[in-house]
Amino acid sequence: MSQIQALDQTYIARTYGRFPVELVSGKGSIVKDTEGKTYIDMGSGIGVTAFGIADDAWQKAVTDQLGTLQHMSNLYYTEPCARLAELLCKKTGMKKVFFSNSGAESNECAIKAARKYAAEAKGPEYSTIITLKNSFHGRTLTTLAATGQEHYHELFQPLTPGFVHTEAENIQELQDLVKTHKVAGILVECIQGEGGVIPLSEAYLTAVQKVCQEQDILLMIDEVQTGNGRTGQLYAYMNYGLKPDIVSTAKGLGGGLPLGATLLGEKVQDVFQPGDHGSTFGGNPVCCAGALSILSRLDDEFLASVKAKSEYIFDSLKDVPGVKSVTGLGLMIGIETEKPAGEVVRACLEKGVLCLTAKNKVRLLPALNIPMDVLAQALAVIKETV
Ligand SMILES: *Cc1c(COP(=O)(O)O)cnc(C)c1O
Repeated sequence: MSQIQALDQTYIARTYGRFPVELVSGKGSIVKDTEGKTYIDMGSGIGVTAFGIADDAWQKAVTDQLGTLQHMSNLYYTEPCARLAELLCKKTGMKKVFFSNSGAESNECAIKAARKYAAEAKGPEYSTIITLKNSFHGRTLTTLAATGQEHYHELFQPLTPGFVHTEAENIQELQDLVKTHKVAGILVECIQGEGGVIPLSEAYLTAVQKVCQEQDILLMIDEVQTGNGRTGQLYAYMNYGLKPDIVSTAKGLGGGLPLGATLLGEKVQDVFQPGDHGSTFGGNPVCCAGALSILSRLDDEFLASVKAKSEYIFDSLKDVPGVKSVTGLGLMIGIETEKPAGEVVRACLEKGVLCLTAKNKVRLLPALNIPMDVLAQALAVIKETV
């Protein structure tokens, strides 16, 4: 074991099971370890480095800002955060943005916005947030409560009250819950990511939206993983023609720097007043400058290239021995394999391809601009490994 690996194991809290590889540098979709071995990165830091490692335009935007003003408190105006909020609203039709630093925080803000809106519109007892079984919304105590997977909850009771979980695709159960609970909002991922890359049906999501509209319940979409071009649309809800009241996002937005955003639609645009919410680091100018460089490039032509790469992946994995099914949308792909997913991922790592897992699936979240030849190489390795 290397010295760094030993230091890490001695001093870092044991929340992660790491692979025995220390990565030092990279460019685009290729990363290098301490031994000089190169890998094709099919995980992009769990969907974070949207344009790969050290993308030129992103790097210039970030370093230019870094040399100008690296941080300022939210007591003052700064340009990158105002421009990014404008771009997010122009591209989505949402009205206002709150910036934070992670996916969990973007959901925390969504939940606070929903509770305050419902308290004012219908009464403070309307505080329940409905989420789906098998969902993932983060690791803070409140977003854990939102997460519909018991095994994450067990050791950390009591969690924030006011969350109920319903089975995906069961619209009857949702309609019943809305009658028996005083509901502020419904929070869903259009494609359950950590839950195993499971897309929800358009029929179900449309029915959820209808329930929300009829009862003045807020439709909240968690786009932390699916957002920012990942699914071939700017946000995954756009694949379904939905009109959410609140959208939370993070991961790919900053292109590799920590940035979360909660987008507030018409109903909730004025729900927050000074003092209601805040973040010391939220809207950091360096992170926002990086995000501007990412978001401004996610135009229709680029999104079409994401869809084309997606089709190529689905085609390549058709009728491959060892592959039981392939799910997902855009460059968010889940591969159900005959071998255990963890075994496949370890074998791919040895052969120089970094993949992820999601439950029982091998999960691919490559950089959105991964070159076709690099993608083909990675798929060849994955196919021979499964
Ligand atoms: C990753 C993820 C989160 C949590 O994001 P963090 O940045 O780790 O807090 C929340 N929701 C979804 C759908 C995610 O994929």
